Amino acid sequence: MSSFDVDAVIVGSGPNGLVAAVTLAEAGWRVVVVEAQETAGGGLRSAETTLPGFRHDLCASNHPMAMASPAFRALRLEDEGLTFAQSDVPLGHAIRPGESGILRRDVDETASGFGDDERLWRSVMGTFGARWRQLGRAIGDPLRPTPDLIALGATSVWPLPWILRALRDERSRGVLAGLAAHSIVDLRRPAAALVGVALGALAHGVGWPAAVGGTQSIADALLARLASLGGELVTGTRVTSIDDLPSARAVLLDTSPRDALRIAGHRFTPSYANALHRMRYGAAVYKVDWALDAPVPWADPALTEAGFIHLGGTAEQVIRAERDVTAGQMPDEPFLLLSQASTVDPSRAPAGKYAFSGYAHVPFGYDGDLTDTIERRIEAFAPGFRERILARHASGPAELEAHNANLIGGAIDGGVPDLRQLIARPRLSLTPQATPDPRIFLCSASTVPGPGVHGMPGRLAAQAALRRLG
Ligand SMILES: Cc1cc2nc3c(=O)[nH]c(=O)nc-3n(C[C@H](O)[C@H](O)[C@H](O)COP(=O)(O)OP(=O)(O)OC[C@H]3O[C@@H](n4cnc5c(N)ncnc54)[C@H](O)[C@@H]3O)c2cc1C
Repeated sequence: MSSFDVDAVIVGSGPNGLVAAVTLAEAGWRVVVVEAQETAGGGLRSAETTLPGFRHDLCASNHPMAMASPAFRALRLEDEGLTFAQSDVPLGHAIRPGESGILRRDVDETASGFGDDERLWRSVMGTFGARWRQLGRAIGDPLRPTPDLIALGATSVWPLPWILRALRDERSRGVLAGLAAHSIVDLRRPAAALVGVALGALAHGVGWPAAVGGTQSIADALLARLASLGGELVTGTRVTSIDDLPSARAVLLDTSPRDALRIAGHRFTPSYANALHRMRYGAAVYKVDWALDAPVPWADPALTEAGFIHLGGTAEQVIRAERDVTAGQMPDEPFLLLSQASTVDPSRAPAGKYAFSGYAHVPFGYDGDLTDTIERRIEAFAPGFRERILARHASGPAELEAHNANLIGGAIDGGVPDLRQLIARPRLSLTPQATPDPRIFLCSASTVPGPGVHGMPGRLAAQAALRRLG
């Protein structure tokens, strides 16, 4: 008979906390998940933030990483009713009103729209895209290098401006820069293009699907699986000390490094505590949801069917905007990322209406009101957009952090994913999820392999706990 109340307590119910909980419960452990917010899911939540019947994703909306992730594939969440929908056009990158680079599922169709860069796009993105399973494994567990990871690193370890010297067409250059900008790092630094090449390849390999019913459906599927395995969920409880938790063989923290220190700092060695303390956070986001009475009237009709849209301009404009936000300055024309999940999932809005969301990259902790700037920028690319707005809901960095303590200063990365912090996350180790206390594990995006809805930090932390304590 175990002397513990449960086998594992998981603090935080984001994708990583829930994947960790389900992985442990499937191994026969009794688990309880403790979540600070009233609703579970962290970055997976969706809600009617604008008007009744309009369902918006609070954070993540597009799921190439979930589709390719070994963690999600192993869980077979389709058995819990989870379904995805997607467009044949994962991404449109608007360069100027009426002119865009279009990334299609089909690599040949995409490459044929990129002029002189046709062959290069097909050979690089097509090759990685065809090997999306291996790519998913390589990105998901990068401390165990595979030939695919080495090839990805060799292709994209260079600063983006160097890589762009190989491309001539402004559409392919803009698309690649926009994809790379998802990492919200200074794109002139080494390895900044890694995320861009990976996201582009996954767009061809698995697409950029949205979860039907909203990203919350992913959390609901994980919670259903957890409940079926006897796992428990406690919401509305912000954990501040490990000593307040039920006794357990293992505690897994799906938290920021700051909360990990607050909760369990007294159990860590000074050098580990220092590594958590020194974690650097990247630039932030400013998010707006809109209830529209019709889809966005894009000047370029090719953008209408895109699942996701960048309003970024040329590659040089993207690089400048990201340079500014990472240096703490607000650019005149911030990089905008807009989700058109409503196009492929009409259940997100009342019949004939349209749920639309997007965000801008802004400096860490930005406290201004950017809504008007964002709407004016969309209006420039989609004349008539503002007339279609029925209601809006804006969240700056402070509101984002209030709804999820992991979004420190509005940064969505859990620690800026630059080359150093991609490898030493939170410190250099072959099992970076383990802490100096053999019972405590970090399982959030603040550990390897970093941000995104792929559940790999959760899976790797659960596997480390099972190996050590199982
Ligand atoms: C606006 C936005 C858009 C994004 N878009 C995408 C996208 O399209 N695709 C994609 O793959 N990724 C996207 N992401 C990133 C993705 O959402 C995150 O990388 C992912 O959710 C991280 O998962 P996690 O489990 O580590 O943490 P989170 O999802 O942040 O969850 C952490 C949970 O822990 C809880 N918590 C924290 N501290 C405590 C505590 N002390 N006690 C109790 N509970 C606590 C929080 O309330 C939260 O529920 C986006 C993020 C944002 C903010």
